[in-house]
Amino acid sequence: MKIAVVGTGYVGLTTALLFAELGHDVLAIDVDEDKVEKINKGICPIYEPGAEELLKKHAGKNLRATREYEIEDADVIFICVGTPSREDGSMETKYLENAARKIGKRLKNGQIVAVKSTVVPGTTEEFVIPILEEESSLKQGEFGVAMNPEFLREGLAIHDTFHPDRIVIGERDKRSGDVLESLYRPLNAPILRTQIKVAEMIKYTSNAFLAVKISFANEIANICERIGVDVYEVMKGVGMDHRISPHFLNAGAGFGGSCFPKDVKALISLAKRVGYEPRLLEDVLKINDYMPRHVVELAEKHYGPLKDAKVSVLGLAFKPNTDDIRETRAVIIVEELLKRGARVIGYDPKAMENFRKLIPHIEYADSAENAVRSADIVIIQADWEEFKKLDFDSFPSLKLVVDGRRTVSPKKVKYVAIGRGD
Ligand code: NAD
Repeated sequence: MKIAVVGTGYVGLTTALLFAELGHDVLAIDVDEDKVEKINKGICPIYEPGAEELLKKHAGKNLRATREYEIEDADVIFICVGTPSREDGSMETKYLENAARKIGKRLKNGQIVAVKSTVVPGTTEEFVIPILEEESSLKQGEFGVAMNPEFLREGLAIHDTFHPDRIVIGERDKRSGDVLESLYRPLNAPILRTQIKVAEMIKYTSNAFLAVKISFANEIANICERIGVDVYEVMKGVGMDHRISPHFLNAGAGFGGSCFPKDVKALISLAKRVGYEPRLLEDVLKINDYMPRHVVELAEKHYGPLKDAKVSVLGLAFKPNTDDIRETRAVIIVEELLKRGARVIGYDPKAMENFRKLIPHIEYADSAENAVRSADIVIIQADWEEFKKLDFDSFPSLKLVVDGRRTVSPKKVKYVAIGRGD
């Protein structure tokens, strides 16, 4: 089949690589010239394990990138543009609108548009379809529409895309659902076909539930600290209950990234718009906002005043194995440290360049060892594997390790972590 993918970020590029690997002809469309050039040269514009190998295999063969909406031949056009938060927490629709208008202008009878971006329930039917109809002068039905949410985890995007837990297809016309189902069938994953609005809500509910689990673990961690019990021991026992599962029960510096914070905010905004006060979701964000501040509180409690202390923050990406710094807890940690007059040194294996653009006025180390060597305190914000290999006991000036992710276990140097009662 001929597939067009609009937006080549974490989701769009991975989707393009999936369909190229499955043998389809893929056209990847992005407004970003730099990304388009890189993709065509087989250079991955994002850090995502396994992506560059696949890109090298398919770029210039059955995968081509362009800035032009050359969608005339496409059987299915996937919309994968960003849907970030607006200032008030609601979903920003400008990228979606722009993509839908450009697709609509060239849309032909029989083509299928599948929305893969995470969009607030109602968006595909009340926002995207009207734009497509207006721009194309066709009626929905003449062109097909589906909503196909994406559940991949950054850092594991390729794995998750090729081995999904489920494929959700929201459809209005059966033909669109059938075509999408046939595209995904080689993955042998369970396929759930449903209404478009349900598919949209499944995505928000999944992310909100995972965010609730993390903030719940952090709530329990904060109680555990006060009664001298280790939350990780507690959650080990709790997670053995198959109704709960051990996943997403890790207390720590909180969740970041391009999805959980913005999707919970968008769901809150939707709930309020339809007349419901979503108290649980509001508290999930409040707890999440507190946790990185608590990391700094722990540093202060165990080191003393942080003025002029040299503090290295290890892990600037929102989590390991990605260069994505969107909503990373490292920003809050660094800002709290700077407020207290600390000298901050940042290090991340892949996200340093992105983080530096956001916060240029701290020092950056060229390796984890060098970051630790000059520090009085180390704060671990993202649990990259390479941090586990460091021998923290071998750095004479290091006085304290504050572990925001339960990554390491030094023997001699003072070690504190969230949810242990340190
Ligand atoms: P991203 O910001 O990494 O990529 C978006 C891309 O779209 C960018 O390359 C941008 O240049 C491009 N773009 C913007 N407007 C465009 C237009 N009009 N035409 C063509 N290209 C355009 O975003 P992402 O992380 O890939 O997320 C995309 C969507 O998928 C979002 O709705 C997000 O919530 C959802 N999602 C993301 C993840 C994730 O882990 N990143 C997981 C599941 C779902």
